Amino acid sequence: HAKESGRGCHAFFDSEIDDRNRRRIQVKNGLRLARTRGELSLAYQPEVDPVSGEVKIYEALMRWYSNEIGLVSPVEFIAVAEESELIEELTEWLIAQVAADCQQAPLNRAKISINLSPRQFRSESWLRQVNAAVDSGSVDPGRLCIEVTESALVEDFSRAHEQLKEIQKLGIEVAIDDFGTGYSSLSYLKRMPIDYLKIDRSFVADIGQDTDDQTIVETVIVMAHALGLKVVAEGAENSQQVEFLTSHQCDLIQGYYYAKPASLHDLAAQEREQLNTH
Ligand code: C2E
Ligand code: MG
Ligand code: MG
Ligand code: MG
Repeated sequence: HAKESGRGCHAFFDSEIDDRNRRRIQVKNGLRLARTRGELSLAYQPEVDPVSGEVKIYEALMRWYSNEIGLVSPVEFIAVAEESELIEELTEWLIAQVAADCQQAPLNRAKISINLSPRQFRSESWLRQVNAAVDSGSVDPGRLCIEVTESALVEDFSRAHEQLKEIQKLGIEVAIDDFGTGYSSLSYLKRMPIDYLKIDRSFVADIGQDTDDQTIVETVIVMAHALGLKVVAEGAENSQQVEFLTSHQCDLIQGYYYAKPASLHDLAAQEREQLNTH
């Protein structure tokens, strides 16, 4: 081992870079075939109105189980897909899958939100895909929500603005995901056509432990409401966090406290079970 023999750290770093490149190439090659091999699926995670307990939105989260390399996190494979036009292919699959699922219980009683990558604003293919799904009648635009991170707004303000405006005209809602981790200024928020701020999990995680993070959460909720936006908190795991968020008028809460992401099949089974026990 270069690391142990001390022949300099170059060999060590080189081999680490080699490993990372090999993995990236493996993921990219696998991903190209994932769709036709039927390896992609969606998990849905509820966003709950904490006052009524009703699920208002289900977020669609992509899952990839590769027959060769096993389960790969979307954090990893989305980043690889973003390096090429693969991300457009994945989104096309995502929209078609959501269109197929959205009439099924329990999804049919809520909205469905989908995640878009910032670089997708460079082309309008996602917009054409959404329009096609709406035109075909398979998706009711009033039941769809788009999630984008702040970086999408900052990197290409005018294109993002134009495309989100068009999406909103269809009646589709827009959420800023992972809010607080990017660099968007208040002026972006004011000028962008958006409906929700989704407070990043890192701020929610420290509720009860870090008073600065509590202040940030409180302030974001007040600010969002003042701008006419609704607020979703992500990653709430315990009752203390949920109570804090609820008492500060957070509109929707998502997190393991309520539910982990689950397949439509499992959601439907859970619902049948609840009906049977009540
Ligand atoms: P995101 O959009 O911010 O999604 C929230 C992530 O937080 C999900 O991870 C979810 O499983 C996780 N999460 C939710 N509640 C909790 C909680 O209480 N505790 C903890 N520890 N985690 C929680 P996931 O499914 O691994 O997705 C990671 C990211 O991958 C997403 O972050 C999103 O940026 C991206 N992603 C997932 N699906 C898609 C997709 O279809 N398209 C695109 N472009 N990106 C996607
Ligand atoms: Mg999201
Ligand atoms: Mg998020
Ligand atoms: Mg997040």
